[in-house]
This record gives sequence, structure tokens and C-alpha cells, in this order.
Amino acid sequence: MSAASDSRPAVVWFRDDLRVADNPALDAAARTGRPVVCLFVWDDRSPGLRPPGGAARWWLHHSLTSLDAGLRERGSRLVVLRGPAEPTIAALLSDLDAAAVFWNRRYGGPERRIDTAVKTAAREAGIEAESFGASLLFEPWTIRTGSGSPFSVFTPFWRACLSAPPPRKPLDAPARLTHGPTVDGLAIDDLGLLPAHPDWASGLRDAWEPGEWAAHSALDAFAAGALIQYREDRDVPGVDGTSRLSPRLRWGELSPHQVWHTITAARDARTSDAAATFLSELGWREFAYHTLFEHPDLATVNIHRAYDSFPWPRLHPSVLRAWEQGRTGVPLVDAGMRELWTSGSMHNRVRMVVASFLTKNLLIDWRRGERWFWDTLVDADPASNPFNWQWVAGSGADAAPYFRVFNPELQRTKFDRHGDYVRRWVPEWGTAGYPEPVVDLAESRRAALAAYETVKSAQRA
Ligand code: FAD
Repeated sequence: MSAASDSRPAVVWFRDDLRVADNPALDAAARTGRPVVCLFVWDDRSPGLRPPGGAARWWLHHSLTSLDAGLRERGSRLVVLRGPAEPTIAALLSDLDAAAVFWNRRYGGPERRIDTAVKTAAREAGIEAESFGASLLFEPWTIRTGSGSPFSVFTPFWRACLSAPPPRKPLDAPARLTHGPTVDGLAIDDLGLLPAHPDWASGLRDAWEPGEWAAHSALDAFAAGALIQYREDRDVPGVDGTSRLSPRLRWGELSPHQVWHTITAARDARTSDAAATFLSELGWREFAYHTLFEHPDLATVNIHRAYDSFPWPRLHPSVLRAWEQGRTGVPLVDAGMRELWTSGSMHNRVRMVVASFLTKNLLIDWRRGERWFWDTLVDADPASNPFNWQWVAGSGADAAPYFRVFNPELQRTKFDRHGDYVRRWVPEWGTAGYPEPVVDLAESRRAALAAYETVKSAQRA
């Protein structure tokens, strides 16, 4: 290779992998010895892409800022561009006379189409283009049933994962990056990801510190602390008993490999069962992504098509609004919805309860709830969000059976026995100011089961 060709840069295209450590694409670029251009493209134009919702944008802004700082410490910086990814990247590669472009894979349908087009165009132009596995422990095409089809039930899926070759060890962050040529980009602020008028993000700021280094602290603190009690505490919303790593994984501040190996290293006789339970939760994340890979329309189309005939009654907008705003008169539901609005998150047990309440007691289409979560969760995830909504609604992979209607009052007395969680988010609970329930729980359960008969008839037909 000549000296002149050595100076042609390698481009790293960041997307859901906003970290410098254990980043195979960045690692590959650094190893070329070429100058490295680190790129983020804000693509709100390409067809089919689902733009992140408000809370996720807030997170993205801060996570990009942290990534830029991590890159600067290594002698590089983040170049930010805006536009449809395919032509934007093709133009940049040509302007820079780039030798290579690297990225870590995505698994959604439109994302894969874009990535394939970028790869094909780059290779046709004589530019090396490579993608890497970084966001999943097991690539979807490697975990198959004996007959070669994807799994549709979690337990055998996870068993197959655990008997596959174990996840690779995390990679170190490159110590130094050779700065690439200057590119005229945007400031992260120019993307307008933060809410301004009004600034509704104060609850998010109180609850979270986005960024790669904060993510490592959170992981280490969990491994040394709450992990030991995870099996007992993970279902209790009034206790900080879970890892709160989901937005870190969503935005790739942490890779699942880093989480896997940190938890495995912390595993000893006392934490062994807790660690196995926790790792199986990472397994649900894998399962959701594998399901998205097989069902690119996961956010809009029922996996079990018999549910297409579900007779969703005509929606009364005020009922949906009461659910969104946490004013249903059902304390655990209201607590969860207010936690979500204020902090951009909600405890998993309560997510299941509010989703069951919406789809079954209120008979509102799961897609309405999925969209609200998409806009309000900092961890809103293209796989886990629709996957879990379909799971609760009964239309999804390995779904909870439709007739499993969570009773939110029983759930409250079981998992929030002393009322800590509900009182925190619904201080007026138990006073005259608290409304009556918007539906009768027993009656609405019966109506849901009657509506479900339609699906059963469609299934039989
Ligand atoms: P922990 O209990 O500490 O679990 C560790 C990690 O495992 C999580 O960070 C997450 O990455 C993964 N995980 C745990 N449970 C699940 C699950 N059921 N499905 C997929 N991954 C899981 N999770 C998201 O990351 N993004 C979403 O958009 C999302 N939407 C959901 C919608 C509904 C209706 C429901 C019922 C669940 C949803 N979940 C979603 C799953 C789960 O609620 C969150 O991952 C969990 O609450 C995050 O808290 P944690 O990090 O403390 O979890």
C-alpha cells in the first residue's frame, strides 16, 4: 500500500452502538492504521424508518454527546450529518476518498435494506464495506430449531442459545485514533433532539445520567449490589431491585457482551441463581430481536394473524387519555403511567399490568399502547417494545394466553404490598380526590373474554 493510499480514511458509522469500548466496527477501523472518521447520521427521511420518540431523542442527544467526548479523548471526534443515510454516506465516502466503511449490524427490516444498499454501493465504488455483530449475543440466523426454522417459544430458544458457542469477550476501546480529515458537520444541538418549548425533561434528568461511563458505573453497581437479591426483588416495583440497564442496551452504551461477562464474573455460590435469572432476561431481549428479524412488521402486524379479526370496539378518546395520563382510578395502573411520563421508564411488572389493562379491560388495540410507550420510554426499542406488547395482547410469539388478564388490584396487593410504589406516584390515592375506576374490572374482563371468542373462531376456521 502506498503512503498516499494509507492516508485514505476509514469511516465508522455509529447507530445503536454509542460506545467506544467493545465496538467491533470502531476496533476494525482503528486496526487499519488509517485515519478514522466517526460518523452519526440523523436519518429522518429514509422510507420505513421509525423516528425515535420524544424521551428516546432526549437520551440520544446526551448519549451522542458522551460518545463525542469519548472519541475526543482518543484523538478523534463525532461527525454529525443529517439526511437519508444511503445518499448521505455515499457522498461522504466519495468526498473523503474513503478506503473503508464499517458499522455494527441492525436487525429491523428498513434498517437492513438501507445497510445492504450502502454496502453494495460502497463495494461497487471499490470501497471496503464490512458489518459486525455487536448488539446481540447470538445472531438470529445462528439459533435455529432442529428443522432449521426460528424458535417461537422462549424456553427452547434460550436453551439453544445456552448450548451455542458462548458470547465473545468484550473488546477494549482503541487507545488512540488517528484523526481523519475535517468534515463540515452539524453540532449535536443542531439536531434539535431536546425538548425546548416546553422543556418537559426535568424528570428524565432527575432519573438518569446517559452516557457510556455512567453506563459502566450502573452495571458495576448492579453486579456488586442488587444482583444478589435479583430473584426476590425484580418483581417489586417499590424496590430498586433491577439493573435499569435497558436504555444503555437500547442505545448501545453497553453491549450485551459486556453485561454478560460482568455478570458471569460476579457469579459465585451466593449469586449463581440470581445471575442465571438475570441472564435469561437478556435472553428475552435476544428473543425479541430474533422475532423482529423474522417479523419486520412487528410494530404493526399481529404475529398470530387470527388476531386480525379481534373486534376492537370503537375507541373513546377520553379513555385512552385517562390511561396515558394515569387517571384511570386503578392505582397500580396510574402509578405506572405517571412513572413513565415523569421518568421515561416503568418497572417491568407494571408494564405488563398497564398493557394488560389497556388491551383487555379497556379493549384498546395494543398498537395504541405501543405507540405511547414508543414516545415516552427512554429505552423504547424497535424489538422489545412491540414484542412485549404483542406478548401481553396475546397476538405475539410465545404469548401470554389471551385469557390471562392481569387483575391490577391483585397485582398491587401482591407486588406492592405496603403501597410504597403507588403512594410515591399517586399521592392522592385513598383520598376523596382520587377518581373511581373508569371500568369495572370483573365486567370488563368478561367482555374481553367474549371478544376473544371471535379470535378463537377465526383460528378454528
Ligand atoms: P432488568 O430486570 O435488570 O433486566 C435486564 C435487561 O434484560 C434489561 O435491561 C433488558 O435489556 C432485558 N429485558 C428484561 N426484560 C425484558 C423483556 N421482557 N423483553 C426484552 N428485554 C428484556 N424493554 C426495552 O428495553 N425496551 C422497550 O421498549 C420495552 N417495552 C416494553 C413494553 C411492555 C408492554 C413490556 C411488558 C415490557 C417492555 N420492555 C421493554 C421489557 C422490560 O420491561 C424492560 O426491559 C425492563 O423493565 C428494563 O428494566 P431493567 O433494565 O431494570 O431490567
